[in-house]
Amino acid sequence: MLKLCYLYPDLMNLYGDRGNVIAIQKRCQWRGIDLRIDKIGIGEEVDFNDYDIIFMGGGQDREQNLMSDDLLNVKASSLRDAAENGVVILAVCGSYQLLGNYYKAQNGTEIPGIGLLDIYTESGKERLVGNIVIQMDSGDMVVGFENHSGRTYLGEKVRPLGKVLVGNGNNGSDGYEGAVYKNVFGTYIHGPLLPKNPCLTDRLISLALARHGVYELTPLDDRIENMAHQRAIDLFYKKA
Ligand code: GLN
Repeated sequence: MLKLCYLYPDLMNLYGDRGNVIAIQKRCQWRGIDLRIDKIGIGEEVDFNDYDIIFMGGGQDREQNLMSDDLLNVKASSLRDAAENGVVILAVCGSYQLLGNYYKAQNGTEIPGIGLLDIYTESGKERLVGNIVIQMDSGDMVVGFENHSGRTYLGEKVRPLGKVLVGNGNNGSDGYEGAVYKNVFGTYIHGPLLPKNPCLTDRLISLALARHGVYELTPLDDRIENMAHQRAIDLFYKKA
């Protein structure tokens, strides 16, 4: 059985990001893989090493302020430890930002991050909004939308999730989106991300299974999903 922790589900769930948890749940269910989902909120002590996958969604500056104390003072140490032990973590937008060193918000206040990802984020005047298409190292394309004021900059210890083909990505200037460290994936892509990109959902499930010595993932009949995925990419990305 796989165990998934859905962190701050009531606060960090912008633009339906809980759809990422549903996508993992369904693609496990269709394969007969048991998945337990625990929703964990503010004040709850957790040993994140007990989980295989941790999901954290997006949030406005207000929600980030509400959860940042708890993230820093209650959750951070176990989250960092779990990341070092290869637990799969997917963090979207506002959560992604707070896995880094800090997030400087629009009003100039600086919200400290937990330093799990070697990134930092500073808000810009214009929000970076719109459809986005990136290409990962695997060659797979990922499609969704973005809506953030934060500009995120990567340090040495992380690599980007992918190269921006359409849209802004981390900061609208370096041509990359997201950050990856071990099995930790940070991204600005909403959509929700995983339902629109089955290959990425399966990548996370495979990484979680591998922690249990399972290296085979039963293929699913993704003809419809792949057609929708390709159609969305063609809509936004006309090959030059
Ligand atoms: N509040 C953060 C920003 O504006 C994150 C927004 C989000 O999670 N979509 O950059």
